[in-house]
Amino acid sequence: MQIFDAHCDLLYKLWLDPSIDVYSGAGVQSSLQQLFDHSAKIQCFAVFIPDYLPQEEKLPAVLKQISLFHSCILQRFPSIKHITSKKEAENLAEGEIGALLTLEGCGPLGNSVNLAETLYRLGVRSFNLTWNYANYFADGALETRNGGLSELGCRLVDSFNEMKVWTDLSHLSEQSFWDVLERAEYPVASHSNAYKLCPHPRNLNDSQLKALMEKDGAIGVTFVPQFTAGGKPVLHDLLHHVDYICSLGGSMHLGFGSDFDGIEETITGLESYKGYDSLIQELLKRYPESLVERFLYSNFADRLPE
Ligand SMILES: [Zn+2]
Repeated sequence: MQIFDAHCDLLYKLWLDPSIDVYSGAGVQSSLQQLFDHSAKIQCFAVFIPDYLPQEEKLPAVLKQISLFHSCILQRFPSIKHITSKKEAENLAEGEIGALLTLEGCGPLGNSVNLAETLYRLGVRSFNLTWNYANYFADGALETRNGGLSELGCRLVDSFNEMKVWTDLSHLSEQSFWDVLERAEYPVASHSNAYKLCPHPRNLNDSQLKALMEKDGAIGVTFVPQFTAGGKPVLHDLLHHVDYICSLGGSMHLGFGSDFDGIEETITGLESYKGYDSLIQELLKRYPESLVERFLYSNFADRLPE
């Protein structure tokens, strides 16, 4: 069964330490060998820049991560193809993996909407407006004032619509979520779980989940233990999120965004990419194969930018 994973932070890990072994490194959760051996078809690679970096160093760091994407992944592994459209995804040959670039937080753009187009030219096809905190465009999930989208943020979402790329709602404050959802034509939430089961500000409440489905967005259930359950979550705790989102009508919207290499603690049974094998086995006990195939691949792949 083919896997579409809507979020990993391998580029960030590589940027922190360019000497890591992306193919088979022991500490690499989404190592390329695991992707090849465990049915990966499309992997989203997020460019993530930590907030502690001074503003003037953020955009160069974005460019550096994109450069590492080319030098350490695409050039060394020719069967990993940089894809920028649904057509390119459909044209992947057997044994090839499509790699989609995303930007996790638009803070590095400063106050420039135009820079988003430059990143589009470099192949970025999905943008989270924020990480957890505020920037010129919007407030993130951990901003307690819960501000929404700024005027500049409205223009940025408009530019995503014009470029026909995904606007990613994961990481937004609740108010930003509603402002952005109203405006975004291609909304997704790449890595968030159900707030009802695990009340963390990074998760989405029932109204948010339902509204995202109504706008035909995809939702990536994520393997972050803190967004899954209290204590030390196990695979079954994650399955509850799948069941719950399906109970709200999400079976044609649900996918996965692991957040591998962006997390230190992991769900027991989902320590790295190969954990998808057990997840698929468990899903097949509960859902028809055609639906499991949708969860693992088509619900995101069918919504890729044209
Ligand atoms: Zn994230």
